[in-house]
Amino acid sequence: MTIQSFFPPQRTLMGPGPSDVSPRVLSALARPTIGHLDPNFVAMMDEVKELLQYALQTKNKFTMAVSAPGSAGMEACFVNLITPEDTVVVCVNGVFGMRMIENVNRIGAKLVVVEGEWGRAVDPQALEASLKENPQANFVAFVHAETSTGALSDAKALCAIAKEHDCLTIVDAVTSLGGVELRVDEWQIDAVYSGSQKCLSCVPGLSPVSFSDKAAEVIQNRGIAVQSWFLDQSLVMGYWSGEGKRSYHHTAPVNSLYALHESLVMLQNEGLENSWARHKTMHDKLSTGLAKLGLEFIVPADERLPQLNAVYIPQGIDDAKVREFLLNEFNLEIGAGLGAFAGKAWRIGLMGYAARNENVTLCLAALEEALKQ
Ligand SMILES: *Cc1c(COP(=O)(O)O)cnc(C)c1O
Repeated sequence: MTIQSFFPPQRTLMGPGPSDVSPRVLSALARPTIGHLDPNFVAMMDEVKELLQYALQTKNKFTMAVSAPGSAGMEACFVNLITPEDTVVVCVNGVFGMRMIENVNRIGAKLVVVEGEWGRAVDPQALEASLKENPQANFVAFVHAETSTGALSDAKALCAIAKEHDCLTIVDAVTSLGGVELRVDEWQIDAVYSGSQKCLSCVPGLSPVSFSDKAAEVIQNRGIAVQSWFLDQSLVMGYWSGEGKRSYHHTAPVNSLYALHESLVMLQNEGLENSWARHKTMHDKLSTGLAKLGLEFIVPADERLPQLNAVYIPQGIDDAKVREFLLNEFNLEIGAGLGAFAGKAWRIGLMGYAARNENVTLCLAALEEALKQ
C-alpha cells in the first residue's frame, strides 16, 4: 500500500498550545526557501531580533530565537548561565517550575525550592524568606505564566526581591509573551525565554530568548564550557549577530523564521498593549459564559491568566468523553489537566489568534452541548 499525503483536519485549537495559527503566518511558511546565509535572510533575522526586542520590551543586544521549542529556550537559559558552583532558588507552583528544578539538578548546581500552591501565584514573601535563609543564592528562577494551572505571578515584584538580594533572574515567559504585560528591562529580568506556539499565533518550534548585559557577561566569563554545544549561546550569538561576518553554526529553520517574523509583524501592527487587552476582553467574555455553565475556576480571580482558563471538571462528568465530543462534533481542542490536575480540570486556551470572539462563542456553545449529553 502506498502511503498518501497527509492532510490534517481543520481544528480550532483552544488548549494549552499549540494554539490557532494565523492564516497570515501559514502563508508566510509557504514562501520560497532561501539560503540561511543569503543576505535577504540575514536582513530578515535582524528584523526578527528587533521585533523580539519590541515584544519583550527590551534593548538587550543578546536577543534571538533558539531553533527549537520553548523547552529548549528554557534549557538554553539554564545551561548557559548556571555552573555547579551556583545556588539557584526556584519558585514552583506547577509543572513548568518542576522542569526548572530538573534543569538545575542536571547541571549539578545547588538547588533551593520555594514550594508554592498549585493554582496560585508565587508568593513574593516566600521568596523573600528563602533568600534571607540562603544568602549564598545567586539566581532566582520562576514561571511568569504557569500554563499547567492558569496562574499568573507578579514577575515585577519577584524580580525586585531577587535584585535586593543580588541575584540574577531567569523567567519563563513561554505563555505570557503577547498575552499579558511583560517588560523585561523595566522589571529587571536577566534571562527570559518564550515560545512561538502560545500567544504569538505562530507554529511550534522556535523559542525567543533574551539575556541582559549582566547575564551576557556571566556567560562570557564562565570558567567551564557549556555542556551543550548546540545551546551554547556564545556560539549561536556569532550566527545571529555577526555584523557582516555571520558565521555558520547550524542551519536556521528558514521557513519557520518567516512564520515568526510574520507573527511579530502582526503583533507590532496590533500593538503590544492592544494584544494584552484583547486577551483580557476575551477572557472576561469566556469566564462569564463558563460561570453560566456552572464551571468553576481553579485560580482566584486576581491571579488568573486571561490566556489559560483552568476550570474544575464537574462531579460525574467524564473528562475524556467531553474532550472527545468537542473534537469529533466541533473540531475543537481544549486541554486536559496536567500534573496534580490530571483528570480533574480542563484547560481552555485563549492564546494569540485563538483569542477571538468567534472562538469564545464556539467554545461555550460546544461545552454546553457536551455537558447536556
Ligand atoms: C509550553 C510551555 C513550555 C514548553 O514549551 P514547548 O514549546 O512545549 O517546548 C515551557 N513553559 C511554559 C510555561 C509553557 O507553557
